[in-house]
Amino acid sequence: MSYSFSTYSGGTILFDYAACLQCETKACIPACNPRGSGSILELRDGTPVLKISAEAARKGQCSECLACEEACRIDGKGALRIELPIPALNTALEDMAAKGLRPVYWEG
Ligand code: SF4
Ligand code: SF4
Repeated sequence: MSYSFSTYSGGTILFDYAACLQCETKACIPACNPRGSGSILELRDGTPVLKISAEAARKGQCSECLACEEACRIDGKGALRIELPIPALNTALEDMAAKGLRPVYWEG
């Protein structure tokens, strides 16, 4: 059981609702405050959902700030994943790999 929405850069924000239902803090919701205008997330039936339209989120109301993912990782259940296309990062990683180097955070 999962939920997702798209972001401006072509990224995706994904929630694992099985974990969200076990989460007591729901920390992702207050952590979301793009441009100081308040959370674009709300709680519905125990799980976070957009309180704006998916189209509005995709057009930039989600600022891709990553705050929800960090809050979930620290105070929630690690159920939220943000995937953002960062072509320059991929190129840098390929350049490093060609030199036999790996970033320190690399888990692969
Ligand atoms: S903090 Fe994480 S686990 Fe908790 S409700 Fe939000 S996304 Fe789900
Ligand atoms: S990335 Fe930022 S603006 Fe988008 S949902 Fe998460 S906290 Fe809110």
